[in-house]
Amino acid sequence: MKRADTLTQRSATGMSACHACGDPVHELAYLCPRCGAMQDSPRADDGNSRLIASVLALLFGGLGLHKFYLGAWGWGLVYLLLCWTLVPSFVALVEGIRYLVLSEADFQRKADQMRGPFAFLW
Ligand SMILES: [Zn+2]
Repeated sequence: MKRADTLTQRSATGMSACHACGDPVHELAYLCPRCGAMQDSPRADDGNSRLIASVLALLFGGLGLHKFYLGAWGWGLVYLLLCWTLVPSFVALVEGIRYLVLSEADFQRKADQMRGPFAFLW
């Protein structure tokens, strides 16, 4: 019995095939109920990554990299200009922790609502 034909199919029922075992898995499922393989999140590549934004804020926040990443280049320039004061580093540290504390859904919603170079995601 060949299963190859089900692998690439995405039916209208919201089911897709597990990339590991080929069994039908709901599109929004995180793990395959049969083999336990991690499924690709349908929203994983939609918009900004919360993890990347957090890492940028924690490691390079003093330079405003997370601001540029989130599209708030106005704040990014402010952070960059003030980086010698170390104030942006402290603010970015808090922001990075905030991003990690936020749920994925909350982060995506807030990121979607950001408009303009001086939008602030909190
Ligand atoms: Zn599976």
